[in-house]
Amino acid sequence: MICIKTKNKKIVAAAKDVAFLLEDRRFYEAISLTVFEGTTSTGDDIALYLQRVLALEDVIVYGYCKWWANELAVYKSSKPNSVGINKCRLKRSHASICGSIVHEIIHLVDRFIEDAEFGHPKKHTHNRDKTAPYRIGKIAMYLINEYY
Ligand SMILES: [Zn+2]
Repeated sequence: MICIKTKNKKIVAAAKDVAFLLEDRRFYEAISLTVFEGTTSTGDDIALYLQRVLALEDVIVYGYCKWWANELAVYKSSKPNSVGINKCRLKRSHASICGSIVHEIIHLVDRFIEDAEFGHPKKHTHNRDKTAPYRIGKIAMYLINEYY
C-alpha cells in the first residue's frame, strides 16, 4: 500500500496515480516486455519482484526540500519503506513526478529482493537510462500521460 506522508498537493496527486498504476496490468505487461541493462534479471523477473514486494511492504511517500541539489527524489536503505520527493524540484509535469516516485520504488523493491540487483550507477553513464529504475520510471510516465 502507498502511504502518503506529505501535504504537498503535487506529490499527493502523483502518489495517488502511482497507487493506481501499481494495480494496473498494463504496467506489469510493459515491464515484462522490456530488456534492462545492468542486471541479469529479465523483465518478467522484475515484474514479479515488484508485485511480490508490493504485496508485502508498504511504501511511504514523503516530501523534503533540498533547494541546493539537483536531485529530484531519493531512496535510502536506512529508510527501507520510504521514498522521498524533493519539494524544491517540482516545477515539472505530473507524469514526471509520478516517474520519480516509481524510479525510487524500483530501488525499494531491489532492496527487498536479496538474490537480484537491478539498480543503476551513481554517475551518468551511457547505459544508465537503460537500467530498471530509469526505464520503469519512463514506462510510468508514458502510461500516466497516455491513460490517466
Ligand atoms: Zn535512482
